[in-house]
Amino acid sequence: DAELPDSLYSKLNDQQRAAATAGDAPLLIVAGAGTGKTNTLAYRVAHLIAKGADPGRILLLTFSRRAAAEMGKRVRSILESASAAQLPHRPVSLLSKLWSGTFHAVGNRLLRLHGQALGIGDSFTVLDRSDAEDLLNSVRSELELDKGDVRFPRKETCLAIYSRCVNATDTVEDVLKNQFPWCSGYPEQLKKLFKAFVARKQEQNTLDYDDLLLYWFHLMQDEELAAGVRARFDHVLVDEYQDTNRLQSGILRKLKPDGVGLTVVGDDAQSIYSFRAATVHNILEFPQHFPGTTVAKLEQNYRSVQPILSATNAVIAECPHRYNKDLFTTKKGGALPRLVTVQDEDKQSDYLIGRILQHVEAGIPLKKQAVLFRTSHHSDALEVELSRRNIPFVKYGGLKFLEAAHVKDTLAILRLAENPKDAISAQRVLQLIDGIGPAVAKKAVQHLSSRHFDLKAWESFSCPSAAWEQWPPFVAMMISLRNDKLPLPDQVAKVREFYAPVLEKRYDNPTVRKRDLEQMEQISAGFTSRSQMLAELTLDPPNSTQDLAGPPLREEDYLILSTIHSAKGCEWDCVYVIHAADGNIPSDMATGTAEDIEEERRLFYVALTRAKDFLEVLFPLKYYAKKHAMGDRHSYAQLTRFLPENVSEKFEKVKVAAPEAVSDTPVRVGQPSEVKRKIAAMFG
Ligand code: ATP
Ligand code: MG
Repeated sequence: DAELPDSLYSKLNDQQRAAATAGDAPLLIVAGAGTGKTNTLAYRVAHLIAKGADPGRILLLTFSRRAAAEMGKRVRSILESASAAQLPHRPVSLLSKLWSGTFHAVGNRLLRLHGQALGIGDSFTVLDRSDAEDLLNSVRSELELDKGDVRFPRKETCLAIYSRCVNATDTVEDVLKNQFPWCSGYPEQLKKLFKAFVARKQEQNTLDYDDLLLYWFHLMQDEELAAGVRARFDHVLVDEYQDTNRLQSGILRKLKPDGVGLTVVGDDAQSIYSFRAATVHNILEFPQHFPGTTVAKLEQNYRSVQPILSATNAVIAECPHRYNKDLFTTKKGGALPRLVTVQDEDKQSDYLIGRILQHVEAGIPLKKQAVLFRTSHHSDALEVELSRRNIPFVKYGGLKFLEAAHVKDTLAILRLAENPKDAISAQRVLQLIDGIGPAVAKKAVQHLSSRHFDLKAWESFSCPSAAWEQWPPFVAMMISLRNDKLPLPDQVAKVREFYAPVLEKRYDNPTVRKRDLEQMEQISAGFTSRSQMLAELTLDPPNSTQDLAGPPLREEDYLILSTIHSAKGCEWDCVYVIHAADGNIPSDMATGTAEDIEEERRLFYVALTRAKDFLEVLFPLKYYAKKHAMGDRHSYAQLTRFLPENVSEKFEKVKVAAPEAVSDTPVRVGQPSEVKRKIAAMFG
């Protein structure tokens, strides 16, 4: 662009630069891992702003809050590095106006602004997954749908079916047939359940995650209302487009009907969320949805050294995908990735920690190293060992901080103050008081509901004698919180004070839990309002208070542990993929159909492509059934089927010496090992 300084783009290659500076026609950037898609998107935002676009009229949709924050930082630094004097105005100061976040977070924000017309007002509270499950479950038992029928789908399954119907815009019948065949006997009961569930949420003025998209989608179906939302944004940009679902693409098509000012970025070979109704068709069919689309390709990989790139290319070559990408790198040298066979899970931790520390000694800090796994509990043994050796770590995608009981209790109090109709929070909060169980809690909720949800009504509620002492201060606290006059940290302090005795009485290690709540008080100062805090914490739950407050112990170095799903878009100098046994990768839980297996392969590909300089895949030979009282019960594993010989030859194969000579009998894919055969022959 003639009017902008060349220095702005000096760090981009020609393809990237063309994409970053392309005109307003619909733009699809489809390219392989590590080719700079996310980086190019950040440059495109910077370019638009430098050319005079108002950041407050740019919408940037990312896959996590973390990704949105990082993107914001990148845009800022790009603009700052371009000499300020050369830019026509001072855009950096306006950057905080940029609309960025996940679809759910942006939906939450827009619905508070435009939801009145849909009858949802601006004071709805957001249910997290487990709240939604609880609500669905209580509706289910009221309807007595599962009475005496042990095969009626469990609450998690019911919610998953519901969620699928919403996100894939599919009927209950089709979802049952295609995704939940074992529940196909219950279409009528499920429809009745979902209908009541929806009605209940509407009564309570609560929205669950799916509703944030669903209501947004419906907002966009009304021409007049849609026009209001559309008028907010000149530019809409979406990262990781391959993992969007039908509702999300429906929203985009209404937001930018002709695609002018719309940019989406993705990689069909990395689509890994179809289990949540994401569909790769969105990216494949983008050019048909938006005639006149420019398709930009990026072919140079900047992330990985050649030997790693060769190995990851070999993994994905086995998988049919639509857009072909010839990736090359100029990153010279580099070690072969390693495929390491270890004796068992304990040896895996030993070996892993040894390697991590070697890399630290060679100058790679812990922060630039990550251990990836298919399922959250796969890191249990490693976490124990890391703690024992005092190696700090942070885990992504694990048990969320907000799922901890004491945190849920505290937030439920704030949520009830925000929305007294929120019966799930009310039930939880009431039962914190001695002498109040589910039955009394229900009565108290009814009492409140018959008095227009004015919390003062509780002053006249006759509670059981065991609750007499705690009741008046509790009600007084709720009323004062409801007034919402206190600064947020003071509100949290009030809750903490009320909650301290409960914590002492009901939970183990109260000291640690108390500290969490103290931290929450500090963190709350960073939010502008209670509703903002509640919505944001629920929408993108942090893993720990440390995650909320920024990196743990700021100065210190820490290792990253992450599920593969949560590692999307990230990169590290050293990546270790653990538990690469068949059954883990692909997961036994996800090998129903050929399509499921392809998704697992792409997931494995996503894991491997996170590595810049060093990649190791670890395969424990033996798994012990530890809970068995019988002593050394174990079974042998097979290497993941995604590393057949023609792929694994791209790896350096390492066998970690074991005291027993198991390494003499290498386990081959598809063939039972010598030992297995011996054991199988034991009984003739
Ligand atoms: P993924 O598919 O995994 O999300 P991506 O295509 O989004 O990957 P980025 O994360 O944007 O890739 O970039 C990968 C790495 O390459 C980053 O470290 C980025 O800084 C670097 N990079 C991108 N473009 C260039 C370039 N032109 N010159 C040097 N480094 C680059
Ligand atoms: Mg990316």
